[in-house]
Formats: sequence, structure tokens, C-alpha cells
Amino acid sequence: ESVDDAFFKRRVAAAVARRAALPELAGQQGLRLIHAESDGLPGVIADRYGDTVVVQLTTAGADKWRAAIADSLHKATGCARIYERSDVEVRNLEGLEPVTGWLLGDASGEELVITENGVRMAVDFLAGHKTGFYLDQRENRRRTAELARDRRVLNCFCYTAGFSLQALAGGAREVASVDSSGPALATAQRNLVLNPQLDAARAIWLEADVFAELRSLRAAGERYDLIVLDPPKFAHTAAHAERAGRAYKDINLHALQLLAPGGLLMTYSCSGGVDAELFRKIVAGAALDAGRRARIVQQLQGAADHPVDLAFPEGEYLKGLLLQVE
Ligand code: SAH
Repeated sequence: ESVDDAFFKRRVAAAVARRAALPELAGQQGLRLIHAESDGLPGVIADRYGDTVVVQLTTAGADKWRAAIADSLHKATGCARIYERSDVEVRNLEGLEPVTGWLLGDASGEELVITENGVRMAVDFLAGHKTGFYLDQRENRRRTAELARDRRVLNCFCYTAGFSLQALAGGAREVASVDSSGPALATAQRNLVLNPQLDAARAIWLEADVFAELRSLRAAGERYDLIVLDPPKFAHTAAHAERAGRAYKDINLHALQLLAPGGLLMTYSCSGGVDAELFRKIVAGAALDAGRRARIVQQLQGAADHPVDLAFPEGEYLKGLLLQVE
């Protein structure tokens, strides 16, 4: 198969069509259209937010075909605005400089807002993490809404409050959200304002280091019915798995101790270097040391627009567990 303009047109169109064929994805305003290797396009990420597509190119091959990729995305989606956010460090490995800017159209002055599971979320595609939003957690955030009713919720590593607002939408009694990033918390509070249907009086914002905050909350005698732990990638490669393992164990141990009897823990790892089996062992060790018996209610993974090609198991980076403690 020769790599030319037609190659990209075919593969981009096929990736877009695969999403359109899945009922839970069709019509989503925030949607990953291209998930790199697993869509047959290594180094190409494309996320759609309304009528804007944000592209991230991370390999030299993808970088070389920028124009063909942008043109194919425009043809496959009809979106007239395409922004490039190729400012990730991994490009250094390919000898590439950071590249950002509009490839098609321009909407620089406008606020980009999507609706996810009935909640409006601002997407900072210019400076936010990834392409501006963690689309991979869409289904897990929806699950949080289902579980939150009348619960006291703690959302750690909240970023722009995706899990927090879903918990409020689901009828949580109170939602405390922790993040160490001021700008992330500013967007989080902006998101709450964008959703006047939610009871803002039930939201508490804590700008803090989660490792320290979990300890302070315990010392203060706090108890929660539902805790979400969605930390950043602690292990960038398998070589960092051991150190990352200690960090995962620490937060899970302290979160488990903060749970009221019958409480729920939604705990995630997005480290490619820590596979699902290892993650489960780490969390099991944390439960043992916390002295809490816990059962797996559900195994969690990335949403369907982040598929894992069976021939590319390394693509399975996001895994999670929903635990119920005694
Ligand atoms: N759950 C979020 C995504 C989390 S991204 C969502 O659904 O959108 C990870 C977040 O962890 C980032 O916002 C980052 O600022 C924050 N973070 C990283 N290290 C931290 C630490 N030690 N303490 C608190 N927050 C931290």
C-alpha cells in the first residue's frame, strides 16, 4: 500500500465512519476521531469539539503528511476549523519542533464549549492538557453520575471538573474537587457557571497536592461515600513502573482509608507502563495495607472512540477499577 494523499483520505474516512457506526458515539460533540496506531495512523490524534477539530501529530511521518491529514479530516467531517496542537515533548524523540496554529479556519477569540452527558464543558484547546479535554473518560464520568446520588464525593486530580460536575448532575450531596493546578481549577469553576442547573453550593474546590490533601482530610476525620482517583501518568514507560507503583499505592491506600463503610472507589491509571494486571495488584496491596476489604464491582477502560487494536496491546493505556469497600 503506497502512502500518498489517497492513503490518508481512506484511513481518516474509515476512522470517522467507525465512530459513526457506534450508537454511544454517534452525535457526541466531543469525540476522538483518530486514535493513532489503533486507527492505522501512528502519530496522528484528532479530536472533534463541536465543529472544530484539534489535531496532534507526534511522529515524523505524521508531521510530513500534515496537509493531507488536515484535508482528509475536513472532507470526512465537514468541519471548517482545524487547529494543530503538536506541542508535546515526545516529538523531541523524532527531532521535531513544537508546532501550533490553525490549519483551516480560525476561531481564536471564541470560547469552545461542548456538552457531555448533559453537562456543558469549556475546552481550552489552546493551552489545556492533551487537545484540551480528557475525552477518554467520557463513559466513566457518566458512570459517576449514575453512582453519585446522595453521596459525599471526593474527586482527586479533578482537572476541569469533568467527574465533579457529573457527580453533581447525578445528585451528589457534596463534591470536593482537588487539583494542584490553579488554571485547571479556574476552568473547573467556569464550567460550573456554564451549568446553572447544577447546585453550586454543593461544590468545594481545593487547590492542593493530592498526596498531602488525602492525609490532611484523614487527620481532619473526613469520610466520603465515593472517591475518584484519576491521576496523571505516573509512568511514562515500563522503566518507570516501579516508582509509579509506589505513587499509585500511596494514593489508593489513603483514599481507601477515607471511604465510609460501603463506599465506592473509582481508581484509574493512564500509564502505559503499568498494565491492568499490575495495577490491580498495586490496588490490592493498598487495600491490604489500608486494612479495608474491597471488591471489584466493575473493570473500567477508555471510551469506545479510543479503541485498542488487538495487534497493538500497548495502546491499552487507560484502565480502572470500581471498588466497593466493606
Ligand atoms: N479527571 C480529569 C483528568 C485528570 S488529569 C478529567 O476527567 O478531565 C490530571 C490532573 O492532575 C491535572 O489537572 C493536574 O493538574 C493534576 N495533578 C497532577 N499532579 C497532582 C498532584 N500531585 N496533586 C494534585 N493534582 C495534581
